[in-house]
Amino acid sequence: MDPLAAPAALARALAGGALGLVAGSFVATLIARWPQGQSLGGRSRCPGCGAPIAAHDLIPLVAFIRLKGRCRTCGAAIPRLYPAIEGVAALMGAAALAATPGGPGVAGALMGWLLLALACLDARHWWLPDRLTWPLLALGLAAGPAPLGQRLAAVAIAGGGLSLLRLGYRHLKGREGMGLGDVKLAAAIASWLSPMWLAPFMGLAALLGLMAVARRPATRVVPFGACLAVAGWATWLAATLAGHG
Ligand SMILES: [Zn+2]
Repeated sequence: MDPLAAPAALARALAGGALGLVAGSFVATLIARWPQGQSLGGRSRCPGCGAPIAAHDLIPLVAFIRLKGRCRTCGAAIPRLYPAIEGVAALMGAAALAATPGGPGVAGALMGWLLLALACLDARHWWLPDRLTWPLLALGLAAGPAPLGQRLAAVAIAGGGLSLLRLGYRHLKGREGMGLGDVKLAAAIASWLSPMWLAPFMGLAALLGLMAVARRPATRVVPFGACLAVAGWATWLAATLAGHG
């Protein structure tokens, strides 16, 4: 093994983690503002008192720790969601770039951050916006690791399979079991995978879905898109570490 491989992977992980903090801060803003129809640009404001937040108080995670989780002006608690998302995005960036260098690592990190935003929006608002799903598909087709023919086959299998499942459920039960957003998301994730990794991907998503159903026995309704997102990125990481892409 190359004696420089481990330090190089560590340096890439640190760079990926730093990129992830910035991406996570954007994802947190997106999921906090987009569902309310608020603009994504403009100054960040305290949700408690409306005071604009100074640039040096916007440094991801660092600012939260320095301010002990409170607004500098009114002392209102900053929602824990922000640092949590920044931390998860940083870990995803570090893992993606440690797993594979260069363009594929950056692409994998971008896939992860898009999926993080989709998972949060689905879990909180039952919403999988096309404006995130289509870029995920386009990026996967442009930059996914497996040969393009294999990725196109994976998209067709995942999209076609879930469409059939969705139509079959509706025909048998007379009600909607899965949203069209879930089908599109599964197809978009498949654009990053070769067909051999579809079974682990869908199996893990189904397992996460069943675990979520068990926690909500009253309604038995779960945000399956969030399960697909988590399973999709875990499968990409496993495929990349296995060298299969
Ligand atoms: Zn405030």
